[in-house]
Order: sequence, then C-alpha cells, then structure tokens
Amino acid sequence: MERKRSVYMDHAATTPVRPEALEAMLPYFSERFGNPSSLYSLAREAKEAVEEARGRVAAAIGATPEEVFFTSGGTEADNWAIKGTALRGKGDHIVTSAIEHHAVLHTCRSLEKQGYRVTYLPVDEFGRVEPAAVEEAITDATILVSVMAANNEIGTIQPIRAIAEVAHDHKIPFHTDAVQAIGAFPVDVDEMGADLLALSAHKFGGPKGTGALYVRKRTRIGTFIDGGAQEWGKRAGTENVPGIVGLGRAIELAVAGMPQNAPRLAAMRDRLIRGILDTIPDTRLNGHPTERLANNVNVAFRYVEGESILLMLDALGIAASTGSACTSASLEPSHVLTSCGLPPEHAHGSLRLTLGYANTEEDVDYVLEVLPGIIERLREISPLRGEA
Ligand SMILES: *Cc1c(COP(=O)(O)O)cnc(C)c1O
Repeated sequence: MERKRSVYMDHAATTPVRPEALEAMLPYFSERFGNPSSLYSLAREAKEAVEEARGRVAAAIGATPEEVFFTSGGTEADNWAIKGTALRGKGDHIVTSAIEHHAVLHTCRSLEKQGYRVTYLPVDEFGRVEPAAVEEAITDATILVSVMAANNEIGTIQPIRAIAEVAHDHKIPFHTDAVQAIGAFPVDVDEMGADLLALSAHKFGGPKGTGALYVRKRTRIGTFIDGGAQEWGKRAGTENVPGIVGLGRAIELAVAGMPQNAPRLAAMRDRLIRGILDTIPDTRLNGHPTERLANNVNVAFRYVEGESILLMLDALGIAASTGSACTSASLEPSHVLTSCGLPPEHAHGSLRLTLGYANTEEDVDYVLEVLPGIIERLREISPLRGEA
C-alpha cells in the first residue's frame, strides 16, 4: 500500500525542531540539568550554555549579549515590550497597527482598559502601514510605537526602518514583533532602528515556549515577571536551559541557511501563487505582491469557507491554515484580512500555505494538483454561490 502523503505547509504557525537544535538541547534535560544560578560546576555548565546561546541570538540580530533577554516565547516578549514600556513611560498613548498579532493587539486592549489610549493604524489593501500615518498619530503623550516586521497571516513586510525613524524623530522608542522575520530576511536591530524586538524559537526551527526580547541599551522598560534575579534582575524565573540552548542553535542555523533557503522558498511560493491564480477562477492574492515573506502564500477563494478547504486538504495529508492558528478555531473573519478591506465573504474563504526548509517541489506539485478539485467541489455545494 502506498503511504499516505504528508505535506506540512503551516510553518507560520510552528516549525519542527531542527535535528541539530534537538541534539544540542538533549543533555540539558538529563546529565547537564543544573540550575544556572547555583554555585557548582554542574550549574556553571548550564550557565555557560545559556550565555553561549545569548551570544548566538545577539550575533544573529546585530545586538550585544547584554541586550538579549530570554522569555517564554514571542507572546511574552511582546507583552513585556509594551507593558514594560507602559510601566516606565511618562505618557499614556501607544501607536500600533490594526494587523498586529494578538500578542500585541490584545496587550494594547488590556492597557486600554487601564486607561491608556491606543491608535491602531490602518493599512492599505496590501497590509502596509504608511510611515506618514505614524507621524500623524504621534502626540506628546506617545510612549511607544509598535509595528510588526512581517505579518504572520498575509506575509506583508512593513517599511520598518522608515517607521522607526518617525518614532525616533519624536524621541519615542520603537518596538517590532519580528517573530516571522527571523530566518526569513536579514534582521539587524540597528538597520531596522529597533529599540525593542520580539522573537520566538518555534517559528524558526527551535522549541516552543522559548523566545527573547531585545532591549537596546538605555531603553526604559520595567520588569514584567517579578521574582528572582535571573536575566540581570529583569526577567525572573529559572531559565528554560534546554529551550534556550535550542533557540541559540536554531537561530544560528536559520540565519546561516537564509541565503540558500529564502530564494528557494520564494520560487516555490511564486509557483504556488501563479498555479492557484491561473487555474482557479474567482481567486485573489491576499497581502503584498512583492513585499512579502518568502514562505507565505495567502489566497481568497470566493463562495467557499476556509475551514472546509482545510478539512479536505487534511484528508489528503496537507496541513495548512486559514489565518493565524489562534483564530482558525473561531468563526470571526480575520482582523488582518478585514483591515486590508477584504469583504467578509472573501475573508472567510482564505487559505494560508506557509513553506519551510523541508518542503520540496513535489509538495508544491501535490498541492497544485489537488486544490482546484477541492475548490470546485466546495463551490458546487456552496450556499454562498446562489447569492452572487
Ligand atoms: C507566533 C507569533 C507570535 C507568538 O509567539 P509565541 O512564541 O507562539 O508566543 C507573536 N507574533 C507573531 C507575528 C507570531 O507569528
């Protein structure tokens, strides 16, 4: 019997841990289990591993090790960047975009309930924030500008440097959620103008539950997790040593592999997009045609439900998504797609395919082979179709 095909195209949701990262992690679960804060050789070994990983993260983003703080992931890093700035800031106004990940959006909503004011900048039809809109939104009370480097749903890459320059003209710190950017394109905190930057290991071949916040020297930020003196007293809690080791190894591999990997993924991405748009009528591309992540395909099919597409793809061994993993269980249309002006009937029929280094040309062929039939069948039984 032929083995059922298995194609994973949901790398924006999570990625498999790279074998080299896993191998590097394993001893820190067992023989090298020491607590980095303790005072014996076993502990020193763990401490050294954490500091080596910190050096790797710093090197990957053009920072110094003292500016890298390990967290429990991208969500915590975003929360800390925003709430930590609010704790210290002299004003009560934050500027962000309408298409941020919920880690940023819901953090801002939570601050609004405490009396902070937040401007959610609109985006154009491709999901881009206009730097001039940032300029207009800033007031004397603005304490932070936070705009993501690249969007997790539609893959749109923001003009981060220009946005950071606007913030800095007003002496306001700039935070960027770079979770989707690491390993996808070169991320350098100086070139980007980032004062705060969030990253997450499981989006680039590291383990889940581990991330980091970059904090530029002299950036005012309060502590967010209180407790022991770990991370120079800025982020308490015994370090996730295996996770941190895995993060360090994965970011090094992701950045080193980028020059070969990114163009290969972009070629597969473009073949998928062209193949889908050419063979399936009433279909449009979501996100920017060129300023987009090398691994991101997001298309809207009229008259169908994204969830139904996912079920049929899953039955054929293909793992994909309608939007972000956090929203695909809800029936709300994606806030990203509606912010781009997509009417709900289009937004509901959206499919996201995100590629990773293990995907092959055969995977692309397979998706292009089965998808037109799936959409055709779903449209035949679609109640939405009669309304058109
Ligand atoms: C996945 C993701 C996050 C959250 O990171 P976790 O480590 O899963 O908490 C934040 N922002 C973006 C853009 C993401 O894609």
